[in-house]
Amino acid sequence: MQTYTPPLRDMAFVLTELHDFSQLTALEAFSEVDADLAATVLEEGGKFTSEVLLPLNATGDKEGCTIENGVVRTPRGFKEAYRQFCEGGWSAVSAPPEFGGQGLPETIGLMISEMICATNLSFGLYPGLTGGATVALRKYGSDELKSFYLPKMISGEWSGSMCLTEAHCGTDLGLLRTRAVPQEDGSYRVSGSKIFISAGEHDLSDNIVHLVLARLPDAPPGIKGISLFLVPKFLPDENGAPGERNGVLCTGIEHKMGIKASATCQLAFDDAKGWLIGAPHKGMQAMFAMMNTERLGVGIQGLGIAETAYQSAVAYAKERLQGRSLAGVKHPELPADPIIVHPDVRRMLMTMRVNAEGCRALGAWVAMQLDISEHAADERQRRDAEDFVALMTPVVKAMFTDLGFESANLAVQTYGGHGYIVDHGVEQYVRDARIAMIYEGTNGVQALDLVGRKLPAHMGRNLRGFFHPIAAFIAENKENPMLGEMITGLERALGALQLSTAQIAERGMRDPEEAGAAATDYLRLMGLVGLAYLWAKAVVIAVPKSFAPGPDQAFYAAKISSARFFYERVLPESAALYLKIKSGKASMMALPDEAF
Ligand SMILES: Cc1cc2nc3c(=O)[nH]c(=O)nc-3n(C[C@H](O)[C@H](O)[C@H](O)COP(=O)(O)OP(=O)(O)OC[C@H]3O[C@@H](n4cnc5c(N)ncnc54)[C@H](O)[C@@H]3O)c2cc1C
Repeated sequence: MQTYTPPLRDMAFVLTELHDFSQLTALEAFSEVDADLAATVLEEGGKFTSEVLLPLNATGDKEGCTIENGVVRTPRGFKEAYRQFCEGGWSAVSAPPEFGGQGLPETIGLMISEMICATNLSFGLYPGLTGGATVALRKYGSDELKSFYLPKMISGEWSGSMCLTEAHCGTDLGLLRTRAVPQEDGSYRVSGSKIFISAGEHDLSDNIVHLVLARLPDAPPGIKGISLFLVPKFLPDENGAPGERNGVLCTGIEHKMGIKASATCQLAFDDAKGWLIGAPHKGMQAMFAMMNTERLGVGIQGLGIAETAYQSAVAYAKERLQGRSLAGVKHPELPADPIIVHPDVRRMLMTMRVNAEGCRALGAWVAMQLDISEHAADERQRRDAEDFVALMTPVVKAMFTDLGFESANLAVQTYGGHGYIVDHGVEQYVRDARIAMIYEGTNGVQALDLVGRKLPAHMGRNLRGFFHPIAAFIAENKENPMLGEMITGLERALGALQLSTAQIAERGMRDPEEAGAAATDYLRLMGLVGLAYLWAKAVVIAVPKSFAPGPDQAFYAAKISSARFFYERVLPESAALYLKIKSGKASMMALPDEAF
């Protein structure tokens, strides 16, 4: 059964207790924001997503998108839901007010995204891509393009797409062939074929604004010869209304494993009119503004699925009667006990629970720094926050989507055979979650970005914002009885991460394959250390509050139990990761290609 209650209490804990929300409200841009406003927006977002989007999740999966003569239709109900989404201002939550946005912190925007992804991942892709496109346009577009396109995209009237992939060119964008030829009026004519373009064509919005990577005639080969273009589906007339049809056509949609209500399109650009965004041959820089936003957004998809999978599994585990508790019959009035009594079922439920709560805590840490990087008055504060976000973006993208998939899988296991058949809707979570580990740069490529680019950048400066607060927390809490063994666990895991960092830096310098071989394990180790720090912080907050009688007592007690589970059952993986990293590339690379 697909069921979802917005995790508002935990969101409030993360925003205002675990992290320092006043860091955000102290910023000029958010001077009118307070915890009450945040709570109200999240509550309304929770209502919209659970009442409007959730009921369309299974039907959208079943029906999928269809195409006829280049016209793509989304499943029944999506158009109306999208209309309500835009009317409710959900497309504009964290967008800048000068273009019609509500100007709320991205930290709140990402929590709304979590709820959207939890209730309907396919739906979430349409506004998600628009949001990313507006960021690239805002940062690199000309004033004219910005004033023309941004208000309509932020209101949701027009949507966005991201056109990178071509049949022969996925991860290696240096191979791309789409061409753009300059015109006398300052525009360009774009020609080429793109595949796998999410929201490339659909019936939700009046126009679609494609951000397209292409090569200019004088482009140098490879990744340094790529430029970014804005290519609308309909060329706007002088009043800004969608006018003449541009030369871009959807030639097909993909039949795929999951997110079936999200249209994944093949697009043919045939002398389509477009405009340059940013400088010629510097398209990757501009596109990275969109890709980084999308990478955090895809990480949040993993979190959304982790939460909804957990909730669905808990509901079933309380209902399904099988066997008796090993500790003695718990419900003698029933023919069997509910499966939630069994330790192995608890193992699954607790894993899903800490996956969701941990990722929410870590995601909010990164989101707050993202807000600070954009809005702090102090340049140094902005730079430090930017370093931290750069470091953590691949961790959020890859670890959250891995854990989201793990949780979806565990939800199916909790349901047993009833999870494998379609009736209960949990197998959809596995199918939907799987893509998040692949698109926006596969998780393996995220790990390479972390070790190859983010660690060495600015002589390792990016690491400071991560290592320093954790080391300071350990120093402050060494003798804290509330943490007991946890502080030793955290210290050990941080030590393993620091040793691994030094090892990768040293070995990778001599032999880049060594860094490549360590990357995926290193990313997980870093993620686990981040989670461990936040769980320990949560305990220090929760312990005193757990003694105060009241409605929240159980919440804090559960936080402490969950933290203990994380430390005893999840964090020990860090020791194994350390050993794997230490072993180096030898066993991975020993076999000659012909031996496979
Ligand atoms: C449903 C769906 C929606 C999508 N939406 C969009 C979209 O909106 N816009 C868009 O432009 N694209 C989109 N994509 C494309 C997606 O981003 C790519 O599929 C993804 O980046 C991987 O590229 P690829 O599939 O060509 O795999 P490849 O690049 O061929 O990779 C295959 C394998 O090799 C590994 N690999 C490749 N290069 C390296 C390397 N240098 N080092 C180590 N490992 C490597 C990869 O990790 C992967 O495991 C979408 C794809 C799907 C399926």
